[in-house]
Amino acid sequence: MKLYGNKYFTDTVQSMLKSGRLAHCFIIFGEKGVGKKTAAGYLAKALVCTGEEERPCGKCRACRLAEENAHPDIIFPETAGKLNTYNIETVREVRSGAYVKPNDGNAKVYIFRDADNIKLPAQNALLKIIEEPPEFAYFIFTASSKSAFLPTILSRAVSLGITPCSIDQCSAALGERGYSSEQILAAQSCFGGNIGMCISFLENDNLQNIASLTKKAVNSIINRDEYSLLAALSSPEIKDRETVRLFLEMLDKAIRDAAVMRVNPDAEAAGCCKRESSRLAPLITATSAERMHSLIYRASLDAEANVSTFLLMSALCGGIMNS
Ligand SMILES: [Zn+2]
Repeated sequence: MKLYGNKYFTDTVQSMLKSGRLAHCFIIFGEKGVGKKTAAGYLAKALVCTGEEERPCGKCRACRLAEENAHPDIIFPETAGKLNTYNIETVREVRSGAYVKPNDGNAKVYIFRDADNIKLPAQNALLKIIEEPPEFAYFIFTASSKSAFLPTILSRAVSLGITPCSIDQCSAALGERGYSSEQILAAQSCFGGNIGMCISFLENDNLQNIASLTKKAVNSIINRDEYSLLAALSSPEIKDRETVRLFLEMLDKAIRDAAVMRVNPDAEAAGCCKRESSRLAPLITATSAERMHSLIYRASLDAEANVSTFLLMSALCGGIMNS
């Protein structure tokens, strides 16, 4: 897959390649859907590429194998357990495998995807090999935030942020996938230049439902209608932890947009309901927006702690109405 935008990322990788001063450990971070895995793939491909000039050249055997996810020296360690994450056993296997020379070229790349929940013992076990890696071994982690990692890991890694690309780049990426301009507009009105989230939105009815529930919730706040706010918040479509998290995140963005638009009516919206946010803007104060933000944050912590969705949403509804 092609990496759109993110010039800072590709420039940094290119300058490291050209100077020959390559780091051995990379942390690629950014919000969900923004292209972290694509960025990790680009970096891994550049590392294994045997091209003479531009790397990744996209033409050599290594690049082609990487493109097909079939390069023997690009390794995706396995996750395990309830959290679907990396444990110490996996790290031990990685540690012993990393000293074995590459099959095919000069580099061996380990990609730990979605490493947000990587366990501390696993990180501690990784330290040694990250401190003194074999010359040919590289480690790439992707995560939504750098805070998942121990300071000792962070200090030995190059951290590179991935950000949503411009609306034009996002339109081009979605257009290449065959979406119509109406579909692209609908997705971008919710997720801006976040290509991954736009694709999920277009392929996943559930996400479209959550976006429309967010709009309904913001409308209820505008109308001071507690009953319809509770109906939106306790909708059966918001069922598992992931949808609760996503809904709270979208609601939080919509309220933040309203707070920003109160000061600057022409501000770009980060959330999924620009029109509703701009109608809410004159009706809230900075203090009430801040209070709603804290309540939503509290609700998301409760959701993480497995508090019943109905209870936390009821508390959130009452709190918002009193804000
Ligand atoms: Zn190549």
